[in-house]
Amino acid sequence: MQSVKVTASTQYDILIERGILKRAGELIKEYTGARRALLITDRTVDGLYSKAALDSLKSAGIDCEKFVFEDGEEHKSLKTVGDILSFAAGLNFTRSDIFIALGGGIVGDVTGFAASAYLRGVRFVQIPTTLLAAVDSSVGGKTGVNLPEGKNLAGAFHQPSLVLCDPDCFNTLSDALFADGAAESIKYGIIADESLFEIFEFGDVKGNIENIVRRCVEIKSDIVSRDEFDLGERQKLNLGHTLGHAIERCSDFAVSHGHAVAIGTVRACLAAQKLGVCKEDISERVKKTLERNELPVSTDISVHELASVMQRDKKRSSAGINLILPTKIGECILYNTDPNELESIYSL
Ligand code: NAD
Ligand code: MG
Repeated sequence: MQSVKVTASTQYDILIERGILKRAGELIKEYTGARRALLITDRTVDGLYSKAALDSLKSAGIDCEKFVFEDGEEHKSLKTVGDILSFAAGLNFTRSDIFIALGGGIVGDVTGFAASAYLRGVRFVQIPTTLLAAVDSSVGGKTGVNLPEGKNLAGAFHQPSLVLCDPDCFNTLSDALFADGAAESIKYGIIADESLFEIFEFGDVKGNIENIVRRCVEIKSDIVSRDEFDLGERQKLNLGHTLGHAIERCSDFAVSHGHAVAIGTVRACLAAQKLGVCKEDISERVKKTLERNELPVSTDISVHELASVMQRDKKRSSAGINLILPTKIGECILYNTDPNELESIYSL
């Protein structure tokens, strides 16, 4: 088993092992002492993994109820959170009971937000079933939902009590969903670890999946422990994201998050070279690596259109906009610039 200890406002462990889902009950009992749990999942994951989770919770003596909602961003909503809160209240869940998120990033974000609000905060456990949720959304304590006005506009910082990652769950992911998680994992390599990047560049990705997840969450938790509330260094995790978000929006979300981040990462490398922040030519290496992992490296959307969307990006601060630019594979910096410069920086 691989494990990572996260030190944020609360400490918790991330345990990574093939087949760990079948041991979820005993581990949750050992780490949280909970006797009662509300398992929250979406329709697809319910059909795939709820039974294994519930069987394991039952045999560990944890009394478990289940709440299932429909897949998709439109259900990552205040309505779903309200339904969960009413469901838990109707069953008299108390402060010593826990919520368990079994699923991808949507289930994790919704469950975490509901846990942060129920009785002003109950503990929750993350069991990520997508690669993206395992390497990114299940760690760091950001929870939340979408509003009609935009994505992730309502939420809370609420750290999980435990994260259990079973890489065997990734076997049922489509290639496109696996690639979405790979894009975020490659991003961690470029930010902080060349050897992680190299697994995607020429190694056996599926054969090294436990190591990959461990390294990614170590990097994320390291950064989060220094900047839990996203005031500075945590922005590095957004490599490729400023432009990526613009691509998602300009394509009306036809381009998925991970795919958009891949394109954004290539553009960040090109911009870093152009601005002299990065001395080596890393963009070819990054492009080839993304392509090897079935990710796109370019878009037809014009830089002009992307720049105007980026200028309205919510991460813009009054002091300009921070771009995340690699100085080499394994290191990057925050580069503050005027939003009006974006079009020229990204034009090549
Ligand atoms: P998702 O949760 O929508 O999952 C994608 C699809 O895959 C869903 O239909 C789901 O039912 C299905 N699925 C999940 N596990 C599966 C499995 N093992 N086999 C087959 N199908 C499976 O999407 P995601 O990509 O996991 O997460 C995206 C969400 O995460 C976004 O809402 C994003 O905002 C959020 N996110 C949050 C953070 C954070 O820090 N909180 C970070 C990154 C992303
Ligand atoms: Mg992301």
